[in-house]
Amino acid sequence: MDIDWVELLPDLWRLRIRSSSEYVDHVNAYLLKSNNGWTLVDTGFPGSSEALVRSLAEVTAGEGLLEVILTHIHYDHAGGSRHVSQTFGCTVSMHPDDIGLVEMTKRVLTGDHLFFRAIGIEGQLKETVRSFFARNVKLFPDTLKPIREGDVIGGPGGSWRVIHTPGHTPGHVCLYNDSLGALISGDHLLPRETSNVPYYPIPGYGPLRSYLKSLLRIESIKPTVVLPAHGEPFSDVESRVDYLFNHHESRLRETLESMSGSVDAIGLARRLKWSRGKFDDLGPVDHWLAILEALSHAEFLVELGLAERVGSDRMMYRALSKDFDRIGEELKRLRNPAPS
Ligand SMILES: [Zn+2]
Ligand SMILES: [Zn+2]
Repeated sequence: MDIDWVELLPDLWRLRIRSSSEYVDHVNAYLLKSNNGWTLVDTGFPGSSEALVRSLAEVTAGEGLLEVILTHIHYDHAGGSRHVSQTFGCTVSMHPDDIGLVEMTKRVLTGDHLFFRAIGIEGQLKETVRSFFARNVKLFPDTLKPIREGDVIGGPGGSWRVIHTPGHTPGHVCLYNDSLGALISGDHLLPRETSNVPYYPIPGYGPLRSYLKSLLRIESIKPTVVLPAHGEPFSDVESRVDYLFNHHESRLRETLESMSGSVDAIGLARRLKWSRGKFDDLGPVDHWLAILEALSHAEFLVELGLAERVGSDRMMYRALSKDFDRIGEELKRLRNPAPS
């Protein structure tokens, strides 16, 4: 593991944590200095936690950390959280909806396989996902402090406001500082990749609709610079949001197109195009993400009345109408709501 750091803005450092063995080749953590002390946003991969602690001691000149904020539950962000909090004796905060996912993961590990059954995951893939869960659940400290929309964190330029941006995960948060116009965007808004928008069995939670609304929320605050968890800082939020709306519109069309007869989540994921290659050639983590992303799009089509869920135990889908224009109209309506 290799970590380098740069002071991007006065009192705001980016630590770039690289890995040659993980699913992504790097992740950015950010370190904010205020009069009260240092706050770390995200903690890198599980295998980078020792190196991260050494880098933090250097950058803070031995001052240690006041607190850690996790933008979301994923292991490339939360991987060092237990080790960092034990070393510096600081709290680790995450949104309650992602704390809820840690609890859900624990339930799956103690035998609740209803979700796996519902989405048709069995055999080797189920075992791989279970061991992925088992590794990830150990990364967190025993106690996680909830942070919510509107909470503030000290840093350069005064307070940094927590903005709840559900979609990539239900409890994803960004941090925004008004006076600098700077947004720490986690995985919600990335300069190159399209963030995965996975389905979770949470009553009332529509992942894709939430994600698109969270994009608009961020666009409306007009950040002048976005500091993402993967890649370089960028500023043209509006054209990135345009791109992402178009991406999900084509993904929804493709999902509806793929519903010939009734099809389950794996069947759908197999018929969709993926940037990392054909579904059957992808690795287990990609399989898991692809299946959940196919489901979030299928559920959006159900919500629009273009498809229905069939089958009782297993989530299966059937097209009700191939009115593709309805998808574009709905996304346009979301993007440009009629003035009230
Ligand atoms: Zn993520
Ligand atoms: Zn990430």
